[in-house]
Amino acid sequence: MDFDFPLRKIIHVDMDAFYASVEQHDNPELKGKPIAVGGGSKRGVVSAASYEARKFGVRSAMAGYIARKNCPDLIFVKPRFDRYKEVSQQVRSIFFEYTDLVEPLSLDEAYLDVTENKKGNPSATLVAKEIRQKILDVTGLTASAGISINKFIAKVASDYNKPNGQKTVNPEEVIQFLENLDIRKFYGVGKVTAEKMYKLGIFTGIDLKQKSIEFLDGHFGKSGKYYYYVVRGIHNSEVKPHRTPKSVGAERTFSENLSSEIFMLEKLENIANELERRLKKSKIAGKTITLKIKYSDFTLQTRSKTLPYYIADKELILETAKELLYQSILENSVRLLGISLANLNTEKKETKEQDESVSVQLKFDF
Ligand SMILES: [Mg+2]
Repeated sequence: MDFDFPLRKIIHVDMDAFYASVEQHDNPELKGKPIAVGGGSKRGVVSAASYEARKFGVRSAMAGYIARKNCPDLIFVKPRFDRYKEVSQQVRSIFFEYTDLVEPLSLDEAYLDVTENKKGNPSATLVAKEIRQKILDVTGLTASAGISINKFIAKVASDYNKPNGQKTVNPEEVIQFLENLDIRKFYGVGKVTAEKMYKLGIFTGIDLKQKSIEFLDGHFGKSGKYYYYVVRGIHNSEVKPHRTPKSVGAERTFSENLSSEIFMLEKLENIANELERRLKKSKIAGKTITLKIKYSDFTLQTRSKTLPYYIADKELILETAKELLYQSILENSVRLLGISLANLNTEKKETKEQDESVSVQLKFDF
């Protein structure tokens, strides 16, 4: 298959069961055992599971008590975000030995454009191999990689030989690879979308390819175009090194101004829930909590507190937000409350993944 556009050499590197592997590496007693990083309490959630735990059906984002039910011998380990960030930075500096075009997706995943790399190595496959070996040497941890002509295929491919493996989809293999690809493996297709596709008779790439752009646009909106092009091997979203987001937050404006702290507590709980959801989604934690108060006369007040450790958990967020709320007397009735977390443990996080993926090259001539 010939492509009428310049091909890139993209690697997607993904650390294997990152948080859990760091814990097993740092504490040899945990090696070979089913462990879950996160809370085992009633309200706790698993952030990461070791491969031994995955065999019992333990998954990230699973409630702690369900994980324990699935795997009675499961060992819960408290997350240590400072340590994960440290390892993540070691890994990132290895990437920068090869290219400056590094786009982290989270602490444990990144895209690298090695079309032109600092080592002058024309083989992206060999570069990926070298990088994975260096990661192992430096951190004692394994990583997997996908290598192909664009970010989409590289991302999908990195899952194929996981853990501790890699897969290259060469330009001449791209079309077949995409046609045979199970729709659930398409990056950007979640459970809900997959169900919808099944109902439309789309199970693999080749089914998807038979649908017109109008059809896909009609059923999936903006994402329809993205599906139309990616299944044809067209995904010209560049690897962009990102700037650090300064903070992550959530806020609520009330239909009626509130004048009692008692009423605000319930609202704060909702806001903390929303904030936790966003933090979990992006695998971010932070140290500085800011409570934003907008009064009915539109004056704005912020109150902040910095903790000595990273948090991402709603209980701790809420506790600190309450403390800030009671810190001094409210000056007026309140129309908006917000909580944000800054001093984040990650340099970069994709917040608009969807929009990003949709930025395909539409001018391409077939
Ligand atoms: Mg990973």
